[in-house]
Amino acid sequence: MYKIKDVPYVGPKTLSILYKEGIFTPLDMLFRFPKKYESFIEDSLLLAVDKTIVTTTGIVCSIPKVVNHKPPLKSLQFNILVDNEIYKVVAYRREFLKDQIKENQEIQVKGQFFKKRKLINASKVNLKPLKRQLKPIYDIEGLYDSNISKIIVNIYKNKMANVYETLPRRLIKKRGLMDRYDMVYAMHFPTPETLDRAYKRLKYEEALNFQIKIMTERIKAEKTYKEPKKYDLEKVKEFIKKIPYELTNDQKQAVNDIFKDFKKNYPVKRLIQGDVGSGKTVVVGISIYGAKTSGYQSAFMAPTEILASQHYETFIRMFPNLKVELLTSSTKNKEEIKARVFKGEVDLLIGTHALITDDTVFKNLGFVIIDEQHRFGVIARETLEKKGTTDIVYLTATPIPRTLAIVLFGDMEISNIKEMPKGRKKVITSYFSSSQKEAIYNHVKKEIDIGNNAYFVVPSIESDRGENINTIYEEVKDLFSNVFLLHGQMGGSEKQEIMDAFNNTNGAVLISTTVVEVGLDIKHATIMVIFDGEYFGLSQLHQLRGRVGRSDKQSYCYVVSNKGDIERLKTFEKEDDGFKLSEFDLLDRGPGEFLGVRQSGEIDFKYVDINNDYNLLLTAKEDALSVLRKEEELAYYLKYHTIKEKD
Ligand code: ADP
Ligand code: MG
Repeated sequence: MYKIKDVPYVGPKTLSILYKEGIFTPLDMLFRFPKKYESFIEDSLLLAVDKTIVTTTGIVCSIPKVVNHKPPLKSLQFNILVDNEIYKVVAYRREFLKDQIKENQEIQVKGQFFKKRKLINASKVNLKPLKRQLKPIYDIEGLYDSNISKIIVNIYKNKMANVYETLPRRLIKKRGLMDRYDMVYAMHFPTPETLDRAYKRLKYEEALNFQIKIMTERIKAEKTYKEPKKYDLEKVKEFIKKIPYELTNDQKQAVNDIFKDFKKNYPVKRLIQGDVGSGKTVVVGISIYGAKTSGYQSAFMAPTEILASQHYETFIRMFPNLKVELLTSSTKNKEEIKARVFKGEVDLLIGTHALITDDTVFKNLGFVIIDEQHRFGVIARETLEKKGTTDIVYLTATPIPRTLAIVLFGDMEISNIKEMPKGRKKVITSYFSSSQKEAIYNHVKKEIDIGNNAYFVVPSIESDRGENINTIYEEVKDLFSNVFLLHGQMGGSEKQEIMDAFNNTNGAVLISTTVVEVGLDIKHATIMVIFDGEYFGLSQLHQLRGRVGRSDKQSYCYVVSNKGDIERLKTFEKEDDGFKLSEFDLLDRGPGEFLGVRQSGEIDFKYVDINNDYNLLLTAKEDALSVLRKEEELAYYLKYHTIKEKD
């Protein structure tokens, strides 16, 4: 095999630069694609629009002269003849080219075109017009692009690298893709047409590699045996009848989905997405009961102690015929509860991470529910998943745009609860500038006077940016008599005490950071005020808004913001569909807004564009599954996996 130092004209200096770039073989060099391309596609000056950038080749028809401007600026000026018209070329800082440009010579210039004055303000002057319309820019410090091109030409001329095909022929044909060899060549010596096709192939490969990675896990799961759950449908129906309201169609669908998962002979992971208040809890409750009638225990993991105990309260109230226990780090009789879990005397164990510590052993765990799963690290989740071949449901109130869902949760089934329970009052939402804060406080006062509570949310604890807990506290401490403060740096039990106090006080204000974002359910809270709204994504604002409007009382959400994001906040005022708001976020702020859902690295695509390549990702998913199901193809694919060659 050749080394990069074997390539003709690669001297010691070049070599050390290439080594630093991680280029050791001719193949490495071929896979070091240009960072971008500069276009020298020729324009017709007759058609070109005034003040646009044009590229043109003409004959020099005057002796170039150097013109002095404000020192030290100079320019080189000459005329060229293009299609029988004379144009003036002004090239600033190119005076050193004076002696190299001769009359009657062909020359290529690129720059801004001033139509009336027939003038080109040239930013590029090519003494020899480029044969190629696209010039690769490699962006390797210390090496000219033209020298890199020469090295690559030499590699090709001396046949010093083999580029293998890595995709099954079948897929290349089916998707009309370029061969891998041609793709690599096109990246270095492109025409507009071949470059387009090369990128198409690169994107496809990236999407396919990604899908193969996540689908491998899924196929593995499908091959793991799980005993199908034999639930007692009659009992489950009785159970549903006792619920004091009619389930929405989406809730019924989600329940059906989970019961179908129960019947499968392999463990199923399902994501349930539904806005705050869409009623995910009852769906889960019915499923837990279903698991119980099949002889299985369930575990419910919440992101915080507060939420765990809130869920505990809900479950014992709503489902008196389930044996429910709560296990968090502040639980007093931990050992006793664990013993009962081990003996199978508990149907549902609710808890935080404490739940997943290794010494909690279930007699027969069959169903795991993970609430607001994006709050958990992947490791924590996997530990719980390993406790048995269980069906798992992830709950999230942050709907993920569909493009991201296929990427982040491609290995899961998804149920969406879009329909809200009947009779919900829409939270009245308005946007204010900070000079209008007083009006907000006046309204808060009115609500407080009738015993309702208010949340004030700020982006941070201290003053690294904008408003914080202290600035707001100083502002309102004399206006309201019951003001509580809460932030993420407090310990679990301290937070719990404050939440309890806030919950048990009528007419109280809670100033906090976004710790209140997730799942809190305080029925008499009717006002949510969010300060410095520009720091929050629309999905996050929507989450916060979901803390109010949790009863039949009319609730309000006020966002204070001074920055120029009125458009965004107008959208927030009008739109109360979390799915739509998440799509806005994706377009507006990019996928970062949803990261933390899984490790960010996983969706760090180089070529695929999450906003626009939904169909490609779907195609790649289909193809990935087909490759994974054909053993020979998979072996071939793994042997020539592109990852090995590049970067
Ligand atoms: P989330 O999806 O945010 O977890 P919850 O499960 O906490 O929502 O439900 C919010 C409230 O709506 C609860 O008080 C619950 O009892 C009520 N609820 C759920 N489903 C329905 C329904 N179909 N009709 C009426 N009220 C419902
Ligand atoms: Mg909930």
